[in-house]
Amino acid sequence: MTKLTPEQIQAAVSFHGHHCPGLTIGLRAAEYCLKEIGSAKDEEIVAVVENDMCAVDAVQFLTGCTFGKGNFIFRDYGKAAFTFFRRSDGKCARIILDPDLCADLRTRMEGAARDSEEGKKLRQEMIDRLMDAELEDVFLVSIPNEPMPQCARLHKTIPCAQCGEGTMETRLEEVNGLRLCRVCASKAAAQK
Ligand SMILES: [Zn+2]
Ligand SMILES: [Zn+2]
Repeated sequence: MTKLTPEQIQAAVSFHGHHCPGLTIGLRAAEYCLKEIGSAKDEEIVAVVENDMCAVDAVQFLTGCTFGKGNFIFRDYGKAAFTFFRRSDGKCARIILDPDLCADLRTRMEGAARDSEEGKKLRQEMIDRLMDAELEDVFLVSIPNEPMPQCARLHKTIPCAQCGEGTMETRLEEVNGLRLCRVCASKAAAQK
């Protein structure tokens, strides 16, 4: 059963815009982070997420690891997996949704139209099951499959030699001796 307070849950749902099974996975992932690793409001925590679905809104909102702060990193692997690192002592874990927890519901959902009564009922059932389960039954816990990411650094902004738009130095590419932004570099490559 989740230890998140109704206020935490409600605030995350408001931030995301609706309550859905995906957000619920994120709620429990955030709960794991707060319980085992800590909150980015108090400590230096880094989150690495392997999907860009509903779940990541709850993780950003509740852990305080956010895209804009640079302590929230997206890997486009399409997995319901989340890795958390605490910088002070290196405590870390990678958690991934246990595929067995909702396997039966997933199969039934595939047969139900999304907006049908049946589809809605199954989604609610999945939300309830995810919230009612103990954390150790929601996720499989292992060690991270990547080292702790480096601290976000500030980089110089330099104008692209083609479009003139200020571009972070590390994102410029050299093409025919000109330092171009990625958009101009890919246009230049297409013209060759
Ligand atoms: Zn959602
Ligand atoms: Zn450019």
